[in-house]
Amino acid sequence: MISTKVNPYEMAVKQLEEVASFIKLKPSILEYLKHPKREFIVSIPVRMDDGTVKIFTGYRVQHNFALGPTKGGFRYHPEVTLDEVRALAMWMTWKCAVMDLPYGGAKGGVRVDPKQLSDNELERLTRRYAFELIPIIGPDKDIPAPDVNTNPKTMAWFMDTYSMAVGYTAPGVVTGKPIEIGGSKGRIEATGKGVVFILSELLNRIGMDPKDVRIAIQGFGNVGTHTALDAYRLGCKIVAISDVSGGVYDPKGLDIPTLFDWAMQNPQGHLASYPEYSKITNKELLELDDIDVLIPAALEGVINETNADNIRAKIIIEGANGPTTPEAEKILLDKGKTIVPDIVANAGGVTVSYFEWVQDLQSFFWEEEEINSKLKKIMVKAFDRVWTYSKEQNISLRMAAYAYAVSKVARAIELRGIFP
Ligand code: GLU
Repeated sequence: MISTKVNPYEMAVKQLEEVASFIKLKPSILEYLKHPKREFIVSIPVRMDDGTVKIFTGYRVQHNFALGPTKGGFRYHPEVTLDEVRALAMWMTWKCAVMDLPYGGAKGGVRVDPKQLSDNELERLTRRYAFELIPIIGPDKDIPAPDVNTNPKTMAWFMDTYSMAVGYTAPGVVTGKPIEIGGSKGRIEATGKGVVFILSELLNRIGMDPKDVRIAIQGFGNVGTHTALDAYRLGCKIVAISDVSGGVYDPKGLDIPTLFDWAMQNPQGHLASYPEYSKITNKELLELDDIDVLIPAALEGVINETNADNIRAKIIIEGANGPTTPEAEKILLDKGKTIVPDIVANAGGVTVSYFEWVQDLQSFFWEEEEINSKLKKIMVKAFDRVWTYSKEQNISLRMAAYAYAVSKVARAIELRGIFP
């Protein structure tokens, strides 16, 4: 990915301050919301396969729980910092609020390059991280889930460790699990599916036929691959897609089902070695001039002051969390671009996580059709509300989404009062 000097927490606070002045939020509530409720930092000793012990740093930040237990994934990445996790936790608070999910926001992360660890080492790391978090997590406290470089297997280890510690099986402690042990049908595909529900709603409103739409996607992990597949099924042309190694480009459109099968069979992070198509760097992908829609679906801060001026796509749909800095957003909005913010665009994942948690708590599981139709209903409703409000007030979609989310959380804080 493009490395930037962007501090995600400063970025999140700036976004909050902007909306606070728009909705005339009380200064005391603004101050309250700038500060995460709880931050947990742990050292994770891991016995490596060669017998040595390495220490990794893990974080879990719970930003706010005015609306319910906190919810949000945890990531494994060599550049994880406390400020990054803080920002991601705050964004989860707004994401759950804008989708009307009964949750607050949290996020976790371990500063580790998972590619350097064997499967056994990753299991020991995950189990120790889960164990360290036990005082602050639980089905009605804080419910983790997958994020960058974590997946259903990680969630299975996490759930098992928690269950061993409490002495009973507690599937509701984590979402994004394998279906066989209390996971939900449709969870894997949910974030990408949600991105494409939003894309389709947006195209409808601006009168564009999906068949005429050319898309570039940055990111070839869970979000990028499923977004590509669903957008392809919708009839769009995906002309470029990339991962950390770089990407592939074909102005006539990529064969996404074949690329998807390849992704399922190969380790992540090697797309640049794909045998066909012209190669493209991440920088080139973001700045392509023959695309209508750009979907950043990897890491935060990739669209920033250094490249915002070069972005040619008219529409940006944020599959990643925090891919556009406030400075870049200003430049893009001034040029008349449409940006669908992360907290709406990529909320399909946490929405189906919510369904998974509900199914676990009631021990009664739903069919995939039911899940997908409920997901669509929630996504379309949230997008519609945000779109309408942004038109009425002549504000950006992010401002409209934040106005709803922040007002809702602020109202909950006021109703509950400040303890004691
Ligand atoms: N990590 C995902 C997100 O950023 C999913 C979180 C969840 O399912 O709790 O929204």
